[in-house]
Amino acid sequence: MDERPQEAVRAEEVREIAKRKLARDIGITVKELDRRALAMKRAKEELKGELGQEVIVTYGIIIGRNERLAIASVQHAIDEAWANIVRAKACLRTLQRSTILPAQKPTYEPILEQLSIAQRLVNGVRPAALCPYCKRIAEVQMECVPCLGTGYITRSAMVHVEDQFTDETKPVVRHRGEIVEIEKVGK
Ligand SMILES: [Zn+2]
Repeated sequence: MDERPQEAVRAEEVREIAKRKLARDIGITVKELDRRALAMKRAKEELKGELGQEVIVTYGIIIGRNERLAIASVQHAIDEAWANIVRAKACLRTLQRSTILPAQKPTYEPILEQLSIAQRLVNGVRPAALCPYCKRIAEVQMECVPCLGTGYITRSAMVHVEDQFTDETKPVVRHRGEIVEIEKVGK
């Protein structure tokens, strides 16, 4: 028997469904998705241990301390907002299901819908990491689809990143549909 509170079990189920959907959307197996997510988590933890601070995935791009701190604080706000929206939705559903509340129970549906919109909005907010596809090369970034020219990608986009774009020993970008080594851009 699972001893965890019901909400925790439900949240776990929701995560599993979302994971299967994401894997299907990007055309990889759930196992491969887990592998990428774990590799990303380990890399971040290692770096965090070394630097003693929140780590931003930069894919080898050099950025200053101020920008690093700004990204960390924005990402923290994104993560907190998301977690709080998820919590609020779970609580409202508990109220909605409750049988001890009076007959004229308010309808929570419109609020739940608004919260879902907020959740999607927060999900799409950048930055979680610097963009590995343009690596801040101005002429590539201008036309970069994954980061929409901002130079940042979202957390959910991070699991899509193919290994060749994370290889810091041989940095490449995606320029006009081709994979190009960064020194060769525009040549
Ligand atoms: Zn980009």
